[in-house]
Amino acid sequence: MNLPQAFLDRMKERLGRDFPAFLASYERLPYKGLRVNTLKISAEEFARRAPFPLGGNVGGDPACFYIEEEKPGADPYHFAGLYYLQEPSAMTVAAEAKGYGAKRVLDLCAAPGGKATQLAAQMAGEGVLIANEVNYARAKILLQNAERMGIANCAVISASPETLAARFPSYFDLVLADAPCSGEGMFKKEENAIPEWSAENVLRCAVRQRAILDEAAKMVAGGGRLLYSTCTFAEEEDEWQVEDFLARHPEFRLERMQKRYPHEFAGEGHFCAVFAKQDGETLSPKPFPVRKQREAERAFHAFEEAFFPEPLQGAVHTLADGRMYLVPAGMPDLSGASILRLGVELGEWDGKLFKPAHALAMAFGARAKSKISLTRGEARQYLRGETLSRGGPDGWCAVCVEEFPLGLGKCVDGIVKNHLPKGLRQVK
Ligand code: SAM
Repeated sequence: MNLPQAFLDRMKERLGRDFPAFLASYERLPYKGLRVNTLKISAEEFARRAPFPLGGNVGGDPACFYIEEEKPGADPYHFAGLYYLQEPSAMTVAAEAKGYGAKRVLDLCAAPGGKATQLAAQMAGEGVLIANEVNYARAKILLQNAERMGIANCAVISASPETLAARFPSYFDLVLADAPCSGEGMFKKEENAIPEWSAENVLRCAVRQRAILDEAAKMVAGGGRLLYSTCTFAEEEDEWQVEDFLARHPEFRLERMQKRYPHEFAGEGHFCAVFAKQDGETLSPKPFPVRKQREAERAFHAFEEAFFPEPLQGAVHTLADGRMYLVPAGMPDLSGASILRLGVELGEWDGKLFKPAHALAMAFGARAKSKISLTRGEARQYLRGETLSRGGPDGWCAVCVEEFPLGLGKCVDGIVKNHLPKGLRQVK
C-alpha cells in the first residue's frame, strides 16, 4: 500500500517506538464486522442460526462479531435486517452511549447509518431518533438502511447542522457528531482516501469539524451528552479538537476519550470523545403537526384491522400525495429540514385503495396475521422478484425468511405476487 510519506512521518513522530507495529498493521487484511440488529433478533438466537462462521465478539459486546465471510451482504438474513455490516472499531462508538438511556437522540452526520442503526437498537423502540445527513443522495442510503433494520421511532432528514441548531436549541439528551474527517483509518477500505490525504486536508477537516461541533453543542439539553467521533488519527481532528472545544465551551466537560489504533485494537481505527453538558435548560420545540386526512385514514385502518391482530401505536400522518406515515409519540416539528421518512411509511392511498409500503412490512411484518414463511433457498427466489406458488388466504401477506419479514406479497388463488420494490431486487 502506497501511503503518503508526510502521513507516515507524522505517525512516526506521534507513535515513536509503536510506529513499526502501526505500520505492520497495513500488511494484514482489513477486519470485518457484523452487528446483530437486536430490534429483530437476540444476539444469542442469531449466533445459533448464523449462516456463516462468526468470530469473537468485538470489544466484548455480545451483539458485535468479527467475520471473514466473503459476501455477507448477499444473505437473505441481511435483507431481512437481522444484521448490519460495520467496521469493528466503528461499532465501539455508539456503544459509548449505551448507559445513558437517552430518549431524544440526534445523529447529526448519519449516512450510511452504521451508528444511527446501532443507536436505534440501543434505544429498543423508546424515545425518538433523528437521523440527519446533509448530503441528500447519502441520506437516501441512510433511509434504506433504517427501513431494512425496521426502525419505527426514527425520522430520516437532510439539513445542515446550522439549520438544525436554529430549530433545536437545548433539546437532545444525546447528539452524535460522527464528523467527516481525513479518514486515516479508512486507507485499507477505501483506497481513494490515500491520494486525497494531505496535511492541508487535515486542516480543512479540522475547521469543518470545529463548525459542526459548535452547532452540535447548541442542541444538547442541560445534563445531556455530546459524542464526537472520527475515523482518523490526526491530532488536529481528535485530541486537539477536543481541547479546543472545551476551551470554547465551558458548559461541557470531557467524560471519556478513546483512541483506537489498528496495532492496539482489532479494527481499522477510530477516535471518540464523550462530553457532558452541565445541568441547564431543556427546551421543547412544537410537536410534529400531524395532518389528518379522514378518508385516507379510514382506508388505512380497514387494512390495519385485516392485517394486524392489534392496532399499531402512533399517529397517522398523510401527505398531500396520499403517502401515509406512522409518527411515533414525541416526534418534534421538523420543518426546515428535508424529510425523507417520519416514523414508518405505512403506504399510499390513491383516493380509492390503500396500498401498504415495503417499510411497513420491515418494521411490523412479524406481527402480521398472514405470513408466508420461506426457507432460505425460497427466500432467494422472492429476493429475485419471482412469484411464489405457495400462498395462503387471498390478500396481502408478509413474506418472511423463516419468521423474519423480507417484504410484502399479495396472494391470489394460492399464488403470491411479489411486491418487493424493484430497486431492492437481486439480479439473477
Ligand atoms: N455516522 C455514519 C455511520 O456510522 O455510518 C458515518 C458518517 S461519515 C463519517 C460523515 C458524514 O458527514 C458523511 O455522510 C458526510 O456526507 C457528512 N458531512 C459532510 N460534510 C458535512 C457538514 N459540513 N456537516 C455535517 N455533515 C457533513
